[in-house]
Amino acid sequence: MLNRRKFIHRSALSSLLAAIGLGSTACASEEKVTPITTTTTTKPTVIATWERRAANQTAWQVIQKGGRALDAVEAGVKVLEADENDQSVGYGGRPDREGKVTLDACIMDEKGDCGSVCFLQGIKHPISVARKVMEETPHVILAGEGALKFALAQGFKVENLLTEKSKKEYEAWLVNTEYKPVINIENHDTIGMVAIDQAGNISGACTTSGMAYKMHGRVGDSPIIGAGLFVDNEVGGAAATGVGEAVLKTLGSFLVVELMRQGKTPQEACEEAVNRIAKNQHYKDIQVGYCAVNKAGQYGGYSVQPGFSYVVNQKEETELFQATSFIQ
Ligand code: ASP
Repeated sequence: MLNRRKFIHRSALSSLLAAIGLGSTACASEEKVTPITTTTTTKPTVIATWERRAANQTAWQVIQKGGRALDAVEAGVKVLEADENDQSVGYGGRPDREGKVTLDACIMDEKGDCGSVCFLQGIKHPISVARKVMEETPHVILAGEGALKFALAQGFKVENLLTEKSKKEYEAWLVNTEYKPVINIENHDTIGMVAIDQAGNISGACTTSGMAYKMHGRVGDSPIIGAGLFVDNEVGGAAATGVGEAVLKTLGSFLVVELMRQGKTPQEACEEAVNRIAKNQHYKDIQVGYCAVNKAGQYGGYSVQPGFSYVVNQKEETELFQATSFIQ
């Protein structure tokens, strides 16, 4: 049966093929690969991991006003960084096992420039610090104390990011101190977002407080370009969420984008990236989810376990999709 998501993919594929002059016969096989070329018509899009409509809507407004995709993704993910009820990102994020909230974030623009901060403490908007790293330094990644020093020099203010709610949960966790990421439960929920603006340019952002109760000093996939996020303006972009170690070992977002470059649809590319995890790793107890969009605005998502969702804007309304998964 053709479900709604498949239908959307097929429709998008048909329009793409029509746009590049291949017509409906070429569309007869769903398996047919679609080469992504720089001449492909683009479509403004915002796609992000999990159900965070407010973040998508904020990014979408920037795009609608003719803004740059880079500004859109920064503005979008900042909504969650500031939201104390989101305990996986920024302010209110769950701490590490020493009770410290440590943040990871990265950003990448249409020119292939990127910036990242890892293990940053006390700054509510790590994504904006990552953007400053990209724009104001000759480097890509700043970590820990150095990242904090840089943020302060750029005018960011130190704040206590550990809210009472996250502190209480942490104190309860201390009773057993068991480190066991729970699949799809709120101890991890990074936001990774990719946007295409009206000019057809693509940018992405990814930000997280990482796995709750991780070891002090642990850095996940989210601030690592190619792991938690990757964008190529000729091809598309992808973002990851879930157990960062599994994403790091397969450089997942880069893989998804490279597979799209080779002609796979975003859906097929996300599936293959998850297959790589399932082939080589202990995947049964972990969740990893990818979402991706190509230059033409086709999108997709896939995860190891059921339960991963992603949100897409291509028009006024924000649509939530439940991703299909490797384990049914
Ligand atoms: N990927 C993040 C990390 O490993 C966590 C998450 O997505 O929830 O730090």
